Amino acid sequence: MSHLVDTFGRVHDNLRISVTDRCNIRCYYCMPEHATDFQPRSEILTFEEVERFVRVAVGLGVKKIRLTGGEPLLRRDLPVLVEKLAAVPGIRDIALTTNGVLLEGLAKPLYDAGLRRINVHLDTLDRERFRQITRRDDLDKVLRGIDACQELGYGPIKINTVAVKNLIEPDIVPLARFGRERGIEIRYIEFMPLDSQSLWDLNRVLLMDDMIAMLTREIGPLEAIPDQDPRAPATEFRFLDGVGSVGFVASVSKPFCLNCNRIRLTADGHFRYCLFAIEEMNVKAMIRGGASDAEIAEAVQANVRAKWIGHQINSAQFVPPPRPMYAIGG
Ligand code: SAM
Ligand code: SF4
Repeated sequence: MSHLVDTFGRVHDNLRISVTDRCNIRCYYCMPEHATDFQPRSEILTFEEVERFVRVAVGLGVKKIRLTGGEPLLRRDLPVLVEKLAAVPGIRDIALTTNGVLLEGLAKPLYDAGLRRINVHLDTLDRERFRQITRRDDLDKVLRGIDACQELGYGPIKINTVAVKNLIEPDIVPLARFGRERGIEIRYIEFMPLDSQSLWDLNRVLLMDDMIAMLTREIGPLEAIPDQDPRAPATEFRFLDGVGSVGFVASVSKPFCLNCNRIRLTADGHFRYCLFAIEEMNVKAMIRGGASDAEIAEAVQANVRAKWIGHQINSAQFVPPPRPMYAIGG
């Protein structure tokens, strides 16, 4: 039974936890080249604090967890956290979103800790374009990380590609072909106004319908996969020839806020009812100030009850959140 229901009747059972705001690459639509405003270590939740919050959240109906960041694989001993969270009674599913640069070495310890589902962020298969987008020369490491996950039997493995117009068009089709060959779903995520340098503009978003047209023209027809989970952020399509599927997170062209089931915990211990929320609740202050589990649960419930209808990216009233994506947890 869930206790995290808002005034629109949305039930929240999916918690995204950021474990660090740091990153080892610099995707230009996410982080500035010389990012320095990272939180000091003392402000980052310890594993014990994260685990305590998760236990409280499970008592409120949370069943699924995704670890993210910043780059979560930079967090020392991450497999230890995965193991702790996988052992919390009531957690049915743990997933990870990573840029894959450190994955080759960590795939096995994370698998042994209980991780099976992984999303690897990859915008291009071209080394020079990878270097331009991320300001680092790490494409080979990411590809080796994906290989390692496939060899170990991770599943499903998905690739996240950020769909920025006038940039990513040459990569859409090669990535889909790569996915078809490997049995990996590519998820194209419409560029969202969460970058730290205010580069976002509606005209810079490559829209789902345009990507579908491109894939249909170059590879073949797609059809919507029937009976999809209406609460999943991606709309999924399969190729009619039976080889592979693609997903689209169309946050801009087809917002899915009315089906949202997600809540978030930032690396520095702030609770957010939405990726785009303007206000946050300082859970770390409660944890470190001696609040009881019941007090934390009550505060989280009240926060979720007051959740807004959605982000309104397409309206003139849209206000970007006060922190960039890497500091919130994507
Ligand atoms: N570092 C990890 C990574 O890159 O996957 C985890 C954190 S990152 C903020 C989470 C996801 O956000 C990435 O997979 C990327 O696809 C997506 N992302 C980053 N900036 C974005 C933006 N401005 N618009 C849409 N998606 C974005
Ligand atoms: Fe780092 Fe992920 Fe942001 Fe890229 S999208 S800079 S990998 S946090």
